[in-house]
Amino acid sequence: MAWGGRKYDAIVIGGGHNGLVAAACLGRAHRRVLLVEARDRLGGAAATAEILPGYRVSAVAHLLEGFPRRLERELKLGKHGLRYAARNIPTVALDRDGKHLLLPRSRKEFSAFAAHLPKDAVAYRDYISRLQTQAALVAPLFAEAPPKPGDAEALRQLLRRLVWRAELGGGATLRRLMRILPESIGDLLDAEFESPLLKGALAFDATLGGSEGPYAPGTAFRAVCREAMRMQGQGVRLPQGGMGSVVDALAAAVSAQRGEIRLGARVARILVEDGVAAGVEMEDGFIVRAPLVVSSAGPRNTLLELLGAARLETGPAMQLRAPAPGGTSAKVNLALEGAPQFAGLAPELHGARLVISPSLEELGHANAACREGDFASDPVMEVTIPSMSDGTLAPAGHHVLSVLVHHVPYDIEGGWPARREAFVQRVVRTLEHYAPGIGDLMIAGEILTPPDIETKYGLAGGDWHQGDVRLDRLFGFRPAPAFGRYGTPVPGLYLCGAGSHPGGGVTGLPGFLAAEVIAAETSVKRTSVGQLDEREPA
Ligand SMILES: Cc1cc2nc3c(=O)[nH]c(=O)nc-3n(C[C@H](O)[C@H](O)[C@H](O)COP(=O)(O)OP(=O)(O)OC[C@H]3O[C@@H](n4cnc5c(N)ncnc54)[C@H](O)[C@@H]3O)c2cc1C
Repeated sequence: MAWGGRKYDAIVIGGGHNGLVAAACLGRAHRRVLLVEARDRLGGAAATAEILPGYRVSAVAHLLEGFPRRLERELKLGKHGLRYAARNIPTVALDRDGKHLLLPRSRKEFSAFAAHLPKDAVAYRDYISRLQTQAALVAPLFAEAPPKPGDAEALRQLLRRLVWRAELGGGATLRRLMRILPESIGDLLDAEFESPLLKGALAFDATLGGSEGPYAPGTAFRAVCREAMRMQGQGVRLPQGGMGSVVDALAAAVSAQRGEIRLGARVARILVEDGVAAGVEMEDGFIVRAPLVVSSAGPRNTLLELLGAARLETGPAMQLRAPAPGGTSAKVNLALEGAPQFAGLAPELHGARLVISPSLEELGHANAACREGDFASDPVMEVTIPSMSDGTLAPAGHHVLSVLVHHVPYDIEGGWPARREAFVQRVVRTLEHYAPGIGDLMIAGEILTPPDIETKYGLAGGDWHQGDVRLDRLFGFRPAPAFGRYGTPVPGLYLCGAGSHPGGGVTGLPGFLAAEVIAAETSVKRTSVGQLDEREPA
């Protein structure tokens, strides 16, 4: 794998799943690619970790929701070893009194739901049907690259297609969508439903991964966007062996295209010569040249640090600086020497996605605590027990539990070293309420606060989306209005991570769409420039 003396058409910075997708797709487009990853492991926030010998769990991201079938097929991920341990996983809203609520996926489940919540059943069916119609209208926008900033004709064409699709459905969907754009999910759900548990679970989904509370304007549209992202995928799935197995398959796809991967290779600087991208300088001073540099390291890191703010005009640099980054989700991964028993939960639902968000009020409290630099007294969270369906993750009869805690601050009052223990105790106390005795089963655990997720897994800011997904940071305005469509002010330098359209999640879409744009905007001939080593790596 010598990289001295080799020629590269493109250097991909970052071996998270988006960097890998971009590298594999550029390889398919006949580019000779070098991918450099700072850590000694691939995957970024899509990784499997061993918390104790024999106990493995998806370290950060744990559910595959929006990963497109098209990508899986084109990159032959099945052939490269990707398997699923569970598909179409249901969601259960856990109730404090054990009257848990299974969100229905079928007629039969809907009957049980209606028996449980007779007053909300019809409204729920209508809500889901409306959400899906609205999401289906915008879903194509998530599957294609947005128009170039300032390309009025491309924008006009896109809007014409959107309106045309909306008119096919009578126009009401688009009108309603426009009406809810500024609305909060809390107000919308309050107007439709009675059950606090149902409202808490639906609002949890709409706000997950973001920093906003349930009554923040724009969160009703976030629910539509999340559903539209889910539509890109194939239902909620658990990859066999955890998220790391998606990454292993992607790495094999890169190698199959003769792409080269370097681990422990941190880029310190993006080189620009005569105003265009010319390669990268590694931390140890080693220089690798290529006419295309494609970064998944987060837009702020890439442009303000690796490229240097001095190369940007003041306006675009300011756009990147605001809003301040900082993830709002934490992970607690546990190894258990037995099966946890969630009181009142049918045995076949122990493998479901379990949401603990008992009401809008409690979700709001968790958000308010997070904004004040604290965690909630009653944390809201999403729990999975992947070992229920995947026997490769833990010894027989033992389990791993993956807990995603929503609304946890990056900067905490008193500092994380002083508050970690109290945080875990709070999470375990909450779990104990629903699954009495779970604490006694714990034999090991790993806590990942937002700063840990950044330092241990390389996810910029520990932020699900490498930058917030406010209304003014979507589509062609993502990551910021000056940088839409994966391009940057430096010709030959592109972005391809979760900070770009269509945003975070293990979807591979930013990497895939960026590669499509790059392949269309650059010719192979232009990129076949030689690499000149200034010195061999240490
Ligand atoms: C707590 C939490 C739970 C989540 N759960 C889910 C979930 O269940 N399902 C889901 O779909 N999504 C989930 N997400 C979101 C998802 O994990 C991310 O959106 C996604 O992994 C981002 O992928 P990426 O490839 O764009 O970036 P990353 O995974 O951050 O990869 C970027 C890579 O670039 C490398 N890098 C950075 N700087 C340099 C440099 N200078 N030189 C070389 N390499 C560099 C990093 O080390 C890293 O490996 C979750 C996020 C969080 C925080």
